[in-house]
Amino acid sequence: MPTVRCYACNSAFAFSERKRCECGEPLWIETAPEDFSWRSARDPGMWRYADLLPVEPPTGIGAAAGGTPLVRTPRLDVGGARVFLKDEGQNPTGSFKDRGSAVGVAYAAANGIERVGTVSHGNMAMSMAANAAGSGIGCTVCVPGDIPEERLTHIARYDPEIVRIEGEYGGLYYDSLELSGIEFVNSDTPLRVAGQKTVAVEICEAVSPESPDAIVLPVSSGGHLSAIWKALLELRAAGLIDRLPRLYATQAAACDPIVRGFEEGTREVSAVKGGETIAYSIANADPPSGNRALAALRDTGGAAVSVSEAEIRAAQQRLAREGGFRVEASSAVAYAGLGRLTERGEIDAGEEVVTILTGSGFKESREDEVETKTIALDELATIE
Ligand SMILES: *Cc1c(COP(=O)(O)O)cnc(C)c1O
Ligand SMILES: [Zn+2]
Repeated sequence: MPTVRCYACNSAFAFSERKRCECGEPLWIETAPEDFSWRSARDPGMWRYADLLPVEPPTGIGAAAGGTPLVRTPRLDVGGARVFLKDEGQNPTGSFKDRGSAVGVAYAAANGIERVGTVSHGNMAMSMAANAAGSGIGCTVCVPGDIPEERLTHIARYDPEIVRIEGEYGGLYYDSLELSGIEFVNSDTPLRVAGQKTVAVEICEAVSPESPDAIVLPVSSGGHLSAIWKALLELRAAGLIDRLPRLYATQAAACDPIVRGFEEGTREVSAVKGGETIAYSIANADPPSGNRALAALRDTGGAAVSVSEAEIRAAQQRLAREGGFRVEASSAVAYAGLGRLTERGEIDAGEEVVTILTGSGFKESREDEVETKTIALDELATIE
């Protein structure tokens, strides 16, 4: 039974006892990273780092999570910074959520829990449903009543139980954690954070013995950012890195509570009234790991920036047209934010910066204007 600990007040509990601390903050799973080394790696994908995880490597789809490439993309360099992309779109359901879902579902399967659940209307719902399908355990997905049909279709392919929630969706995150019988693996819960931290372990192993100067990512609940921070702390404790890369959170200006909290210099993120954004996967107006995200930014010397809808579209296009990477809008927010960060001098020329492409764009069916030309076969020689 794993122990969970609070980053804020250091209290510890048994995992089965609580998922959030008495002080209100989220908990993460305690590990003993001191003996971890790159050489202890053995299993596929993220399970190379099983020594840092609360469950043994699973078989099936869960074993396919992680192990994504870190690629140097000189054509996408910005402001003289050397850009590397971590392509999380290559996970089984096209986003980094598979890392956390793989751990959540493997844990449930190993502990005789017959049903997992999640509160999500996007990538996390798909990811949980897929991982549960591959383990033969039940999955309940709670979606907002007004979820667009197109998104529902992607989730339904894996045949989870889909429950539409009428009315206020926001409080459901907390209420679901109190349910017994179903292991809810929500956006920043301990098992999810444990799995999702492996992205940073992979990044650090790929560039070891150096470490990147900065890591830029789009942030919603703050779960992913917290996980990356946790990984860096563990790697430092293991003696595998000596300096933490600066972490940068990026958000859409339409819904940017973490950026506001950072700019105000507070320790507590306040809920905002979120507006519409094409980056719907990261539009969390009241992030459950918002305060922990701020702590991660402060501890690593990073920052938070928001970007406009036009900047998000431009970044999404540039990633495809000059990089060949088709990402969803939420994922493009990080690359848009990188532009802002170099302009502001947060990231300098010559620095090595990893931008995490959190989700594939192949699931999006937004209609772009397409330019074509039509010719007859005998005019083929006229193409240049
Ligand atoms: C979930 C998600 C995020 C945000 O992650 P959090 O852990 O909620 O901060 C970013 N990008 C994509 C594509 C996502 O699906
Ligand atoms: Zn606490």
